[in-house]
Amino acid sequence: MNKVPYSAEHDLSCIGSLDELKEMALACSRCGLRAECSNVVFGEGNPTARLMLIGEGPGAEEDRLGRPFAGKAGQLLDQILGAIGLERFEHTYIANVVKCRPPGNRAPRPEEARQCLPWLYRQIELLSPSLIVLLGGTALQNLVDPHAKITKARGQWLHSKSGIKIIPTYHPAALLRDPGKKRPVWEDFQKVRDEYISIVNG
Ligand code: SF4
Repeated sequence: MNKVPYSAEHDLSCIGSLDELKEMALACSRCGLRAECSNVVFGEGNPTARLMLIGEGPGAEEDRLGRPFAGKAGQLLDQILGAIGLERFEHTYIANVVKCRPPGNRAPRPEEARQCLPWLYRQIELLSPSLIVLLGGTALQNLVDPHAKITKARGQWLHSKSGIKIIPTYHPAALLRDPGKKRPVWEDFQKVRDEYISIVNG
């Protein structure tokens, strides 16, 4: 479980900028999710950030606004980032496994994720972050290992082929449902802070 499959099935390697990729993704209707959502939520943040956060998919508020992590889970994520001295728009870039909202907030189906992941893979290549935090089991299973369990994998550093350090932790929405997960997430984000500081300081 130490390899991220960054080979895009749909070849987007000719897309040379994030703006161009966004424009194309906003017009995507590769899977059935687009027919039921209001907005394609491409992702947002600082395109030069060393830290990227990847969640599962847009919820109702994210779909309405076209922005990732715009609801309660996003507010909690902002607080967590603030507690380690980071500000979302200055220090991070945030995206999801799928860019359109699965109805009823269900997890994306494997085929939906398969269709959408090439957008995310190219996004990662263009952003070229040093660190990625995978928020929740869906991100972990789609980007690292379909059989991985977030309960076991969280808090452990993984390495992509391209040298990105990756750490899975619980999704902020899981913390809202189960406050008992706050401590492990805090421990995980302390590791993120330490690694971030060491990267920024060279
Ligand atoms: S979820 Fe992804 S693949 Fe499906 S329509 Fe939206 S952008 Fe396209």
